[in-house]
Amino acid sequence: MNLRNCPQCGKLFVYNIRNLCPECIKKDEKDFGCVRDYLYNHPRATIEEISEETGVSYKNVLEYLKQGRLMLRKNNTNILLSCEHCGEPILSGRLCEKCGNKLKRSMTSQNKSMFIDKDRKGKIHLSKLSRDERRR
Ligand SMILES: [Zn+2]
Ligand SMILES: [Zn+2]
Repeated sequence: MNLRNCPQCGKLFVYNIRNLCPECIKKDEKDFGCVRDYLYNHPRATIEEISEETGVSYKNVLEYLKQGRLMLRKNNTNILLSCEHCGEPILSGRLCEKCGNKLKRSMTSQNKSMFIDKDRKGKIHLSKLSRDERRR
């Protein structure tokens, strides 16, 4: 068993893809739901406002956006996300559509069994995993 300390609450847990203990995952889902609902009802809210109203930290709200779990409305000019590659304004995730597609294309032309992964430092690196391992 792969036991780790939860980075949120410090409790020991069996490692999973989210790298959070089950309780923190539950809390995270709830927080995410609050943020999503708030943003739905207040499409022009700023991150500060969302954080204040939902009690979810600024960092987490930003993380939801960067993970692509939350999507900004096109008319939200109060939250600015930009492509990490070219700096174009984007509504969700880390890359604009153009850079995302370019990256995907270069990935698939290189090697189909490679996939993209981000390590803790936020650097992009490639890991080779067999298809079976990936499906798990
Ligand atoms: Zn935890
Ligand atoms: Zn871009």
